[in-house]
Amino acid sequence: MICNNIGINEKGHITFAGQDVCDLAQKYGTPLYLMDEDKIRENCRTYKAAMDACFASALPVYASKAACFKRMYEIIAEEGFGIDVVSVGEIYTAMKAGMSLENAYFHSNNKTDFDIEFAIENGVGYFVVDNEEELYAIERINDGNAQKQKVLLRLTPGIDTHTYEAVNTGKVDSKFGSAIETGQAEEITRLALGMQNIALAGFHCHIGSQVFDSDTFLRGSEIMLSFAAQMKQKYGYEMQELSLGGGYGVRYTEADPEIDIAANIRQVSECVKADCAKLGLQEPKLIMEPGRSIVADAGMTLYSVGTIKQIPGYKNYVSIDGGMTDNPRYALYGSEYTLFVANKAKEAADFTADVVGRCCESDDIIQPEVRLPKPVRGDIIAVCTTGAYNYSMASNYNRVARPPVVMLCGGKSYQAVKRESLDDLIANDL
Ligand SMILES: *Cc1c(COP(=O)(O)O)cnc(C)c1O
Repeated sequence: MICNNIGINEKGHITFAGQDVCDLAQKYGTPLYLMDEDKIRENCRTYKAAMDACFASALPVYASKAACFKRMYEIIAEEGFGIDVVSVGEIYTAMKAGMSLENAYFHSNNKTDFDIEFAIENGVGYFVVDNEEELYAIERINDGNAQKQKVLLRLTPGIDTHTYEAVNTGKVDSKFGSAIETGQAEEITRLALGMQNIALAGFHCHIGSQVFDSDTFLRGSEIMLSFAAQMKQKYGYEMQELSLGGGYGVRYTEADPEIDIAANIRQVSECVKADCAKLGLQEPKLIMEPGRSIVADAGMTLYSVGTIKQIPGYKNYVSIDGGMTDNPRYALYGSEYTLFVANKAKEAADFTADVVGRCCESDDIIQPEVRLPKPVRGDIIAVCTTGAYNYSMASNYNRVARPPVVMLCGGKSYQAVKRESLDDLIANDL
């Protein structure tokens, strides 16, 4: 199995977090997002323990965009994480979950004046400043406040990862951040240091996503530290915090490698320490911002099979009661997934079909050419590793209601997000 929280029981049913998913589909209906709370906590603890052991000062920060709802923030706070947020919506959700915003890092390449006012008023600890215009806006909006606003500057170290172009953000021509290579990173640093209402806490970079080794982190930290050393030399500025972003990968299929997060963090810490010593820098507080690797393998989506269409000489389609509205990732990036017919997990996978959604859109595909036992109407399809970027990317296209999120914890289940009703769909229609 691609993850140790997936199994098959004596009835030949798929289990998730030790629970029969056919029973869960029966109890809560489909489509249904399941989240294994114990796995989320285990993933958090792996990061927390490794970072605490490796660095004198460190903070893991959860990238909210992977999966954002109140219960998620409660768990994250209990595990001692900070949060990365990119909108007032995420900030508001965290506030309503009772989370302190002291360790909140506010990202986004385009923060409006309203966003900046809202974040400052509500005590967001840090802004991760993308560009000069934003810096001027914070300086202006924070004028008259007793506290300087702490910021990190988002820089692009100019690294091209070998992942998908669409999730590749560390290159010079990225829409995010200020490039070191073009001199814009130095310019924004100089500007920040001269501002009255801003306290420059350090630098940030986020290079890629779904990466399986630490090469990009090692290259990234090397470039960032050498930049920090230049800033120390030129402006006498000593960086307090360095954020290396998120990006460690997860297994969507058997072909994806397993990754030892703790070993990778150790490798990064050795590199950071050696570079700091070499460059005469104080060791900064080290921040990492995992999203996917906290929640992806804690998620599974269940669907009921509807129409099965066989087009002789061409292909077969298995239609499910969800689709790109609850999981747009194949349509967006061609993402791979592992699927099962959950009530036929021990039967031979001798049928090939595209598993497709119910939307009026040809690209509404969950996964093409899946090998599975031939399903019939009413069977349950389980799609694995859907904890990240599924619920958070869900839409109401075709006025399809979003599924609930059911948490699995210690053999029990409870709802964290309820199913949208038909009335929810028209709630804002005047
Ligand atoms: C998306 C993102 C992350 C999280 O990336 P994962 O690949 O989900 O770990 C972290 N930091 C920033 C700035 C991001 O944009």
